[in-house]
Amino acid sequence: MILKIKLAIFFVFISLFAQAQDLPQEVLQGSLVISQDIKVDQIIKDGENIKLSKEGHFVFAVGRDRIEPISITKLVNNVVVSTEEIKIIKQDYEIQRIDGLPEQMVTPLEDDIIERIIAENKVIKEKKLVNTDHTFFISNFIIPTEGIISGVFGSQRILNGKEKSPHRGLDIAAAEGEPVIATNDGIIILAEEDLYYTGGTIMIEHGHGVKSIYAHMSRVDVKVDDVVFKSQRIGSVGSTGRSTGPHLHWGVMLLNTYVDPALLIKS
Ligand SMILES: [Zn+2]
Repeated sequence: MILKIKLAIFFVFISLFAQAQDLPQEVLQGSLVISQDIKVDQIIKDGENIKLSKEGHFVFAVGRDRIEPISITKLVNNVVVSTEEIKIIKQDYEIQRIDGLPEQMVTPLEDDIIERIIAENKVIKEKKLVNTDHTFFISNFIIPTEGIISGVFGSQRILNGKEKSPHRGLDIAAAEGEPVIATNDGIIILAEEDLYYTGGTIMIEHGHGVKSIYAHMSRVDVKVDDVVFKSQRIGSVGSTGRSTGPHLHWGVMLLNTYVDPALLIKS
């Protein structure tokens, strides 16, 4: 009898534990924070509602340059049950300053190229906003190709005092033709053979607006609306688009906020 009660208490404890996950007290810039709380029915992040799954899963991103704490408010039936402030830990980004470079004579892009870039950017901008109710993102992410890390998230070059845009993913140098696999389960939302900047490019949505992007690929083996499984081959490493050598550019974002892919595969 006592054992039965003890077991019952144990299982209640286990199920509570499984359904609520404490929020971290502090997070690194560039983090994707995945949490769960089955007991609440609404989550407000920085004053705005974010998606909450039936099982209580929610996710938010910490941008590269975020400094101010993140505020998370949990509600049940419109009543606030908790508000937490999450502190931000600064990342030490690689900044490369090069001065005294001869001013380059930049050949202006031709009109049709400019039009092409504008059209492609518009599509990518729209795809970034895809935001489904799937929760594939709760499963751990894996590295999409084997190779040498040749570019890290957040790095930036300042040439003759002019800031170039920071690197928004992880570059993995590998031989042309090496397999590229899906970092997690998801649905293909973009599969293009030849974009101007990123060449062979794939975007996968993993639910709640979380996406991965794969660029410069020599081969694209999937099409839009395909359902892909983690570790499924989606294409091959290449050097298409504006690229100086075979590598995979792997990016992860939540809607418009890019995060550091390396942080997703560390634990
Ligand atoms: Zn890159």
